[in-house]
Amino acid sequence: MSLLDRHRAVMPTWMPVYYGEDALEIVSGSGRRVTDATGRTYLDFFGGVLTTMIGYDIAEISDAVRSQIGTGVAHTSTLYLIRQQVELAEKIARISGIPDARVFFTNSGTEANESALLMATNVRRSNQVLAIKNSYHGRTFGTMAITGHRSWSSSSLSPLSVNWLASADRLRGRMAGLGDTDLIDAAVDDLREVLATVTAGDVAALIAEPIQGVGGFVHGPDGLLGAYRKVLDESGILLIADEVQTGWGRTGDHFWGYQAHDVVPDLITFAKGIGNGYALGGVIGRAEVMNAVPAISFATFGGNPISTAAGNAVLDYVLDHDLQGNAKRVGTILLDGLRALDTSIVAAVRGRGLMIGLEFVRPGTTEPDPAVTARVFDLCRQNGLLVGKGGLYGNVIRIGPALTLTEAEARDGLAILSEAVMTADTEIRTL
Ligand code: PMP
Repeated sequence: MSLLDRHRAVMPTWMPVYYGEDALEIVSGSGRRVTDATGRTYLDFFGGVLTTMIGYDIAEISDAVRSQIGTGVAHTSTLYLIRQQVELAEKIARISGIPDARVFFTNSGTEANESALLMATNVRRSNQVLAIKNSYHGRTFGTMAITGHRSWSSSSLSPLSVNWLASADRLRGRMAGLGDTDLIDAAVDDLREVLATVTAGDVAALIAEPIQGVGGFVHGPDGLLGAYRKVLDESGILLIADEVQTGWGRTGDHFWGYQAHDVVPDLITFAKGIGNGYALGGVIGRAEVMNAVPAISFATFGGNPISTAAGNAVLDYVLDHDLQGNAKRVGTILLDGLRALDTSIVAAVRGRGLMIGLEFVRPGTTEPDPAVTARVFDLCRQNGLLVGKGGLYGNVIRIGPALTLTEAEARDGLAILSEAVMTADTEIRTL
């Protein structure tokens, strides 16, 4: 039996696996490249869904983890003091931009958001939350309830009361075709309308991704979250920035995605890249909010010695090598190259830094085309490039490589992706 057949025989049907019958088994990696079980090497433009943020087999990170393993202690308990956990929390608090910040470590982004919801609902004594359509925040009852993306919403059993704001999708819906100022005005009107008409009494928080990740890298103009914030402040509603995909310099212009918005959130959630593959997430927030949980709360593995050894090495690497600057430089090459493509099957090239999305449509329309997206996705793989898919309609190619991506690698990947787009463009015209 093939590994795919064994996977299918033992795992539930709803687990997504890329490339269908040609599912990929990666057995090793180096830098920005991975090798599969047949010995074929790929340039990785998806980085384990924006998680292998520094790259594969990076000495500084492997050494930090090995050195912790060398102590004989992979884990005891977070009930004891863990030096590297405290050190990492200190560093993260310092760069968070939040005054008087506290940090709580978790094992995933889902758990980070679940914890942020726990804090926000407790401090506000309200179970009402506002979320943005097309969002993804996780897979538990609480986080699924604030996930506005039907592919990922399998349950309505959450104890939260959630109301929805329009996403900043400029291709369709309420924000279609709007310029920056009009979009911000429309978003603020939408927020005011939702608060005045469908919420009941106090709302605990608004949660937003500065750039929607799973949703296909949809983002509003700079300043949008700040404009929301002015309205939220009128009634003390908290702002939670989900930086699981946008944090640590990925967006190039800023260290945190929220910094494009002239605002400081009350809570920031993070995960993915900070562990470079070792499971690490968490929440950062103002002490007053973070301390509001009335009972004790504890995560067996949250901030464990291995993951926080990795986390320190990752954060030091990001800062010492100015990976934010690299994301900006190399991301600009990709953005410029993709925007220059002469095709009408791409309706938008979005994003910033090393977080770039291409939205595919029927030529000359805004009708989503998931089939052509899948074709581009497969052609990239055939030609040695791994990319991601996403978007509400499955019609966005997502690029989120390691922030160490070199210019040469960017140009190699850009050539493969451009050729895939142009091949799909020709095919659709000759059908
Ligand atoms: N928030 C965002 C913005 C995400 O992209 C994700 C994961 N795709 C999560 C939360 C959930 O993270 P995890 O899969 O680590 O639970």
